[in-house]
Amino acid sequence: RLLLGMLWMSVVLDVKAQKQDPAITQKVDLLLNRMTLEEKIGQLNQYSGKALTGPATAKSNDLQTEIRNGWVGSVLNVKGTKNTREVQSIAMQSRLKIPLLFSLDVIHGYYTTFPIPLAEAASWDMEAIKLSAHLAAREAAASGIHWTFAPMVDIARDPRWGRIMEGAGEDPYLGSCIAEARVRGFQGKVLGDTDAVMATAKHFAAYGAATAGRDYSGVEMSDHELWQTYLPPFRAAAKAGAATFMNSFNTLNGIPATGNSYLLRNILKGKWHYTGFVVSDWNSIGEMVTWGYANDVKDAALKAITAGCDIDMEGGAYRKNLISLVKEGKVPVALINEAVKRILYQKYQLGLFDDPYKFCDEKRESLVLNDKKSRLAARSVAEKSIVLLKNDGAILPLNTNLKTIAVIGPLAKAKRDMAAAWNVNQDTTAVVSLYDGISLAIRGRQTVLYAKGGSVMHSSQQDIAEAVSIASQADIVVMALGESFDMSGESKSRADIALPGNQEDLFEAVAATGKPVIVTIMGGRPLIFNRIANKAQSILYTWWLGSEAGNAIADVIFGKYNPSGKLPVSFPRSMGQIPIFYSQTNTGRPYNNEPEKLYLSSYIDEQNSPRYAFGYGLSYTTFGYSELKLDKNIIFANDSVTISFSLTNTGRYAGEEVAQLYLRDEVASVVRPLKELKKFIKVQLQPGESRIVHFVLGNDDLSFYDAKLNWIVEPGVFRIMIGSASDDIRASTAFTLKK
Ligand code: BGC
Repeated sequence: RLLLGMLWMSVVLDVKAQKQDPAITQKVDLLLNRMTLEEKIGQLNQYSGKALTGPATAKSNDLQTEIRNGWVGSVLNVKGTKNTREVQSIAMQSRLKIPLLFSLDVIHGYYTTFPIPLAEAASWDMEAIKLSAHLAAREAAASGIHWTFAPMVDIARDPRWGRIMEGAGEDPYLGSCIAEARVRGFQGKVLGDTDAVMATAKHFAAYGAATAGRDYSGVEMSDHELWQTYLPPFRAAAKAGAATFMNSFNTLNGIPATGNSYLLRNILKGKWHYTGFVVSDWNSIGEMVTWGYANDVKDAALKAITAGCDIDMEGGAYRKNLISLVKEGKVPVALINEAVKRILYQKYQLGLFDDPYKFCDEKRESLVLNDKKSRLAARSVAEKSIVLLKNDGAILPLNTNLKTIAVIGPLAKAKRDMAAAWNVNQDTTAVVSLYDGISLAIRGRQTVLYAKGGSVMHSSQQDIAEAVSIASQADIVVMALGESFDMSGESKSRADIALPGNQEDLFEAVAATGKPVIVTIMGGRPLIFNRIANKAQSILYTWWLGSEAGNAIADVIFGKYNPSGKLPVSFPRSMGQIPIFYSQTNTGRPYNNEPEKLYLSSYIDEQNSPRYAFGYGLSYTTFGYSELKLDKNIIFANDSVTISFSLTNTGRYAGEEVAQLYLRDEVASVVRPLKELKKFIKVQLQPGESRIVHFVLGNDDLSFYDAKLNWIVEPGVFRIMIGSASDDIRASTAFTLKK
């Protein structure tokens, strides 16, 4: 085996430069030559245009003047064909008539609300995720939007962080697959199509590792961890052609990401040859002053443009300071030109110079927003996002002969909460609540009783008594517990991630009636609910599922859809386990002397394992794994190895299984995790049906970053584990890579 970390084989891991269209580059250069310095800086300036859509005020007048004078390149928070047309027409009065870009946070839907991104990640279904992004883009683009500030591809291993809801969870491989699916979904076939918008890979970088889960706080992290865990989804997004990147608010090893030339110049625009443009986060240039990284806003502007941040979102730092910085010789015009070119390129690519109103077609807007396609897809991806955590005695799916169902809990009739944070469509009357979904599903054949049982934050004795009395009159109880929409999201970190209020008391009182209880838990993060986990017969983790929430949950409850979701993030048993994630390394003192045991060093007062592991999720059917085979037991450099096994539906229902392959590089020059997800596939099987699954592992799958950050593969033994969850491995084997 390798000594001294000798570099045996190194694979160059640069992202290939996106091909640029020479016809567009030529147009960009011609236009650039005609632009004054002021007009160039205008392209780097982005404002919120909210004031422009209300009654005229001093602020809206100023904004209009700024746009007319060519001082604004893009606008956020103006939406709708009418509004975007109006604001674009102001830009058309400017000297060079350079069209504005309209941007918006289309995070999980526009008019139709899809499940939150973390929920969709639980589907492990790349086609469904891509379709959800595509339909959100289609609606937004039909409403004048050119650019979404999504996907968020931040790896998050701390459920206290409220923005964990916006991402794909804890794993760099799953996260990379989802990043790619979302970018491709938003951006469609080609940018410029009127059903596609530019995507933004955000927040670059390591925002999800905020210290102690406190939003916006600084991040201290080894380069190795950055490259191995946090950068892969960004690299995948760049590779998939994400048109833009957004900086994060945090510092990375003491340097704010917005002024971080290691991130922006060395990695993104250097090593990855990225040709898109970079937008700051909301005033994150100005915030470099409060961090204590810049003397004043002018100094911050200098640091940001030098580091490679192309657009200043809302802060006005570039607007007010770049001219003097250029005149003082501190910022070369070449630096400004480079940023402007990146932005103009995308404006040409979108076709806005040919028709600045291309995305402002009222007829298309009304057709697309009223199209049933989005609602159907929202229901389908919501079904796939639900994770069945427990089903003792197989009480689910529910027997339709039951006479009376009680729907109980503070979220049973909730609509706004299902739409979650980053809900664009303010009118949530069309959202289907759980109560509505169940009522629609049974179409009057049974009685549906209801008790709210208090609020998310408190149930009084009287609330609980009422819930108990309703439960006593029913054959079965479905409870809707969880977080309200404003408890996860930006600046919604929580120090205590227990199910809020006394909802567990409410559950216990209802369960004490002896009626079977199905608990649905709704929220934006993994919550802790040990009493429910121990006592409920059946638990569905339903996150916040968007417009079709209630229908999707009812589909699962009544067996119209067999649940197939798997957790994209570990669920802790207690707060002290955080951060908890499956890809742990061994220690020198393995617990129980079992080298393959996943959670090794122990607490005296807590187990090591999570409550629910990464990759975990039940089905109404069961799946068997057998005949694990490798095509070879010894491979050499650049060979690949094919792994095959048979997957069988061994139960009574048709269903989908997410078969997972984990890898362990047993000895390496940098200690490697006991398990790392390397492949997965979602397979649909009828009862009794079998399918042979093949996975091919190549060099890239066996590689890791060594101590010097070279992406290498080292000879030695690689263990392959296949199974139904990270803690439910069904078969394992190994092969040797020889020098
Ligand atoms: C968030 C970004 C978002 C931006 C614009 C910021 O506060 O961090 O994710 O895109 O606001 O709304």
